[in-house]
Amino acid sequence: MNQLSNRVAFVTGASRGLGRSISYTLGSNGAKICLVDIDEKAAHETAEEMKKDGIDVTYYIADVSVRSQVEQAVEEAVNKYGKIDILVNNAGVLRDNLLFKMSDDDWDTVMNVHLKGAFYCTRAVQKYMVENQYGRIVSISSTSALGNRGQANYATAKAGLQGFTKTLAIELGKYGITANAVAPGFIETDMTRKTAERIGVSFEEFSKNLSDTIPAKRLGQPEDIANAVLFFVKEESSYVNGQILYVAGGPAN
Ligand code: NAP
Repeated sequence: MNQLSNRVAFVTGASRGLGRSISYTLGSNGAKICLVDIDEKAAHETAEEMKKDGIDVTYYIADVSVRSQVEQAVEEAVNKYGKIDILVNNAGVLRDNLLFKMSDDDWDTVMNVHLKGAFYCTRAVQKYMVENQYGRIVSISSTSALGNRGQANYATAKAGLQGFTKTLAIELGKYGITANAVAPGFIETDMTRKTAERIGVSFEEFSKNLSDTIPAKRLGQPEDIANAVLFFVKEESSYVNGQILYVAGGPAN
């Protein structure tokens, strides 16, 4: 099972939701986990739980949209583990609103966390990957990249991450580095619970209505996304590069 032993993974937004599940999956497969989050208490708690489950994990507090914090976390992780082999750009926020009500702050916050965050993390980490001639970069996009009502900011950022991914694949391929993206549909996390709250329906009703529209007839679970990430980060996936994998219980595009 230890397909990732000797690998070091830097996962952003890893205290809860998809990032937590991705960290658990990579850690259970032998990777050492650098758990990055903006929330110290949550990061500490998640790291403690992971340690109890035998995972080698260290947490770092950084807002991914602040360059100095990202660079410090990357430096500390490399000082501790000697390298970073796997980067998962997962940290994300929602600031949904119809375009005519969307504020400058709604737009900037989403662009800063998703796009600038992925840019800062990838730029800081690629240096070490290039030195080692090995790397796996996975960014978490979304089916919203194809367009979604009330998400002009988020859809733009998630589509941007796809262009970012393909460009990284082109630039970094020759150094033994792959860059791919996973684009989830509706996955049951705090983020989707907040969406139900925002539109004023119970989560049960929200899930039931959505499930009826999904070929798999259920919402996704964080593990569905973690397993897709695991595929991309395996050593054997070295010829899979610049791909966007929709994980949505059915065809999304
Ligand atoms: P979540 O439950 O809200 O978790 C997001 C995590 O990111 C939280 O731990 C959050 O910390 C952290 N975070 C937020 N801003 C940050 C920042 N500036 N710097 C560092 N960490 C930050 O969300 P999720 O559902 O797991 O989503 C994870 C990723 O998947 C996001 O990129 C999201 O857009 C994408 N996605 C999710 C779905 C879905 O259905 N859930 C679908 C498609 C794509 P706090 O706890 O402090 O907020």
